[in-house]
Amino acid sequence: MALKLVEEQAPAGYERLVYIEDEEAGLRAFVCVHSTVLGPAVGGCRMWNYATLEEARTDVLRLAAGMTHKNAMAGLGLGGGKSVILGDPRSDKTEALFRAFGRAIESFKGSYYTAEDVGISPEDMAVVATQTAYAVGLDHGAHASGDPSPFTAEGVFQCLKVGARAVFGSDDLTGRRVLVQGLGHVGWSLAEKLHAAGAQLVVSDVNTAAVEKARDTLGAEFCAPDAVFAQQIDVFAPCALGGILTHDSVARLSAKLVCGAANNQLLEPSVAEALLERDCLYLPDYVVNAGGIISVAGEVHRAGPEYRADRLAQIASRVGQIIEISRDQHKTTTQVADEMVADILAAAGKVTQLAS
Ligand code: NAD
Repeated sequence: MALKLVEEQAPAGYERLVYIEDEEAGLRAFVCVHSTVLGPAVGGCRMWNYATLEEARTDVLRLAAGMTHKNAMAGLGLGGGKSVILGDPRSDKTEALFRAFGRAIESFKGSYYTAEDVGISPEDMAVVATQTAYAVGLDHGAHASGDPSPFTAEGVFQCLKVGARAVFGSDDLTGRRVLVQGLGHVGWSLAEKLHAAGAQLVVSDVNTAAVEKARDTLGAEFCAPDAVFAQQIDVFAPCALGGILTHDSVARLSAKLVCGAANNQLLEPSVAEALLERDCLYLPDYVVNAGGIISVAGEVHRAGPEYRADRLAQIASRVGQIIEISRDQHKTTTQVADEMVADILAAAGKVTQLAS
């Protein structure tokens, strides 16, 4: 067993950063525990073809801190952490690799739970789970929570309605032009809900089969991936990539409301101010897309279905509160949300310096 765990110096505000290597199994990975102030750290594992170790380290740090925000805001009694595996998910996956990763996760003794993220499937996680009790997001087992995407989509849809009420004076979406970018697991489910609610869908995806299906079954208009910001729309729902909202793209955005599932939609924090200046209501991604982690948290806590239903319903009321405070105090919605997270952590008895 050539599993090697190297404890790295974690940056200020972080609890642990560990580099993991198993040469025989072809595993190179990082696990970062950002905060366990509210409970064990939970956050998915991403497999990505990082060009360098440094790139992977930067990503795991950013993602782990984001999970502390998301989990705290969703009231899950969980901290934030994340893991990344270096490699091409199309060609570098082996059972040995995921077993070695599982052994590494077990060594954290429950201070960190892993789950699926980009590049990792429930089948991969099932292999990890043969080596550790701290793998969740599973398809099978007594408390298995399965695919989190429908719950993410439901949370986003409910928040979008709250946003519509705030911006347009009504949550009736009939005839509202909503652009859904990315028709994957979450985007497709969201598009179906919007269609059922009477919205006029505009869709964009690099996958033409998904776009054609949306045209045929949901009556959606197609928008080329590079023409998203040229559309006349009421609502923009980013459900594909992070970093989509930049100073440049926001200057061209016609929508008055942004509400979508994609993580890290703002390329940099100052874009939130640009959106506010343009009178466009941005609903913070980590608040609206928490449905998936709520579903996974039910598995961690071995809770019944009411755990998920209660917390899912709270997402939309929390967003309503954020909108109200942001308007009253003339702050961006992200500033309000970040301050709420800081208060939650402080109330837990220990003030944790959150990494931005
Ligand atoms: P997915 O991989 O199933 O879907 C992503 C879709 O985006 C794919 O259809 C892909 O073809 C499309 N896409 C890629 N590049 C594009 C481009 N340039 N323009 C338009 N479309 C493009 O992913 P998902 O699980 O649906 O997640 C979508 C987003 O939501 C991701 O950012 C993810 O991190 C975030 N998220 C997902 C969940 C969840 O429960 N799945 C939870 C929280 C956040």
